[in-house]
Amino acid sequence: MPTLLVRNVTLVATMDRDRREIPGGGLYAVDGIIRQVGPSGELPDEADVVLDLDGHVVVPGLVNTHHHFYQTLTRAIPAAQDAGLFDWLRVLYPIWARIGPDDVRAATQVALAELALSGCTTAADHQYLFPNGSSLTDQFEAAAEIGLRFHGARGSMSLGESAGGLPPDSVVEDERAIVDDMAEMVDRHHDPAIGSMTQVVVAPCSPFSVTLDLMRESAELARDKGVLLHTHLAETIDEEEYCLEHHGRRPVELMADIGWVGDDVWYAHAVFATDDEIEIMSRSRTGVAHCPTSNMRLASGLAPVRKYLASDMRVGLGVDGSASNDGSHLLAEARQAMLLARLDAAPSLSGGALLSARTALEMATRGGAEVLGRSDIGSLEVGKCADFVAISLDRLEYAGTQHDPLAAVVFAAPVHVRPYLRPWSPRGARR
Ligand SMILES: [Zn+2]
Repeated sequence: MPTLLVRNVTLVATMDRDRREIPGGGLYAVDGIIRQVGPSGELPDEADVVLDLDGHVVVPGLVNTHHHFYQTLTRAIPAAQDAGLFDWLRVLYPIWARIGPDDVRAATQVALAELALSGCTTAADHQYLFPNGSSLTDQFEAAAEIGLRFHGARGSMSLGESAGGLPPDSVVEDERAIVDDMAEMVDRHHDPAIGSMTQVVVAPCSPFSVTLDLMRESAELARDKGVLLHTHLAETIDEEEYCLEHHGRRPVELMADIGWVGDDVWYAHAVFATDDEIEIMSRSRTGVAHCPTSNMRLASGLAPVRKYLASDMRVGLGVDGSASNDGSHLLAEARQAMLLARLDAAPSLSGGALLSARTALEMATRGGAEVLGRSDIGSLEVGKCADFVAISLDRLEYAGTQHDPLAAVVFAAPVHVRPYLRPWSPRGARR
């Protein structure tokens, strides 16, 4: 079986249970699974592929928990630049209604390539409209050529304008067809095994674009098939008002009512949650994809991430779609998460301790893995996948940071990394 030796790394940040940081460390992997992590002197001397990474920090591959790859084609659209969520959507829906399979494939590869260069090795994408014959299969085929672990969330919208929803009727689907396609996508593409490269998630778009019947049916299907559930939730005040007006419940309360909480569920955003709702999410082990850039870009709000972490909730990071981030840089998102959470402690620390660089990195790695229900990634430890990224310290951005190179990865201006996906393969060895 192919073996890999990584050694002489300036600092290995394992993100394991003890958050070990190993100067001069490395790891040894067999067939893509880590067998040893530790000081270089304790590792085997030889392997099929040997990477000498002096002058680098090595961290676990970052995990992106929320995105809309197709939006990579619609960045910085003038009419959507300065709009809040609902107006932003109204501008973009008619444009998105014109995308087709080739667009979805191109966007998937652009987004994954950008993510990879920013340190990401596993990405979840939420595709919720399928115009002009496009399908989730287009994404799985396109993603396979890039090489990241890909979780395709089969989104859906069924509540068009004429039925009281937000999206125009032209981009919504029939609910029967949605459920049938979700089932088919799970059967075709979901692999639950350790080291899985492809997983499928059942993911109605949001409370204002599908019916509660579809939410319930989706949950039933997902639990029957053993896959995870995902949706946008509590993203804006507008959505909160919609839920109160149409359902008489706040967003998280509504989800609890219809069985949409649990360790097999994660929400994108969760900006607006009361202490009672945090208690619901914490107790049920419901996860959150925190998307700080998008929440700032759309002026949605400041998610109570420090409370989430204090409540021991599962929290990962998401760059969100490229129409509300205009970039897919996950390391930059960790920096945004750290900085935005600090505003929550303003002014002058009256709100408590500041969120640290290491905590931000933890959300981007082991936090994201927990949110995606993956016990085989997110940290560098024996038995897990050898998904890691190496970041060269020999660069202008890190001048003066030698006292704490790991913190520099988050504090300093975001850089590109060298992703080592399957580095034991001949293609990886040549890099
Ligand atoms: Zn989103």
